[in-house]
Amino acid sequence: MSIEAEEKINFIKDGQLSENKKIKMSASQASLFNECGLLWSFKYLTKIKPDKLVTYDATIYGSALHSTLEEVLLLEASTEEKIEVASSIFLREFKKHFNKSKEDGFHVIIAGGDLKKAIQNHIYSAKLGVQKILNSDLIKGYDKLICEGEFNYSSEHFEIVAKIDLVGMYADETYDVVDFKTGKHFHFKGIKDELQALFYIMVCYDRFKILPNTFKFLKYDKANFSLKEIEIEEEITLDTIDYFKNATKKLDAEITTSIENKHFRKHDPTQKAQYCQWCAYKTACSKVK
Ligand code: SF4
Repeated sequence: MSIEAEEKINFIKDGQLSENKKIKMSASQASLFNECGLLWSFKYLTKIKPDKLVTYDATIYGSALHSTLEEVLLLEASTEEKIEVASSIFLREFKKHFNKSKEDGFHVIIAGGDLKKAIQNHIYSAKLGVQKILNSDLIKGYDKLICEGEFNYSSEHFEIVAKIDLVGMYADETYDVVDFKTGKHFHFKGIKDELQALFYIMVCYDRFKILPNTFKFLKYDKANFSLKEIEIEEEITLDTIDYFKNATKKLDAEITTSIENKHFRKHDPTQKAQYCQWCAYKTACSKVK
């Protein structure tokens, strides 16, 4: 296994970084590289098999709720009608994400062990979540809601692709970028440490030629059905856009050098000790050290 992992890195094809063939990656993949370059290479470059493929019904719930919101928010319908169709859209999305996880070889762990019961709970929670979000002061305060497909940003060798959950436009044509959070844990390090948030601001600027007012999180807490609006207090200026461009340039240079030298930076265990502990590529990693 160690030799296999090592060999795979050594056999990363030359020419992967040619001008015409940019490597596509999501904003979260780019953030993963910042955490651990080696893990990124295992997952997306060498396709080394992880130790265990495990996911949870709660994770599938989060993805399904995200896709439900994206669809429901854009429907040409009244708020009541949107809430009405939310359950069936959610069920369809949950099944889709569940089957995809299975097809990808994941073992899905169901909290409580009863899938039928878990789905019923998720549908109930998702409908309440959609209802709360649609009726929130934040969403009602916008004149127009924009959730358009994918956005991309090209650096020299890479193309970062991502979907923004929502851009809310006020009547005076100012904008907010809104990110939905459906998970239990929420940790925001600050806008300059969050490549994903910077990317969203950048594409919003690129698309509307205007800086968004603020970056907001709308966090739905499934455990007690509560909705919380979190506004990032840092000011968004042209400096934020420059910061993103420089961060992307730096990332591009580091990934390029890593691929060329076939050597990737490892996660610094003094930063977040638990990160390596939960890594699904621990076996391959310890053996290639
Ligand atoms: S065990 Fe830690 S250093 Fe190794 S690949 Fe995983 S996150 Fe990176």
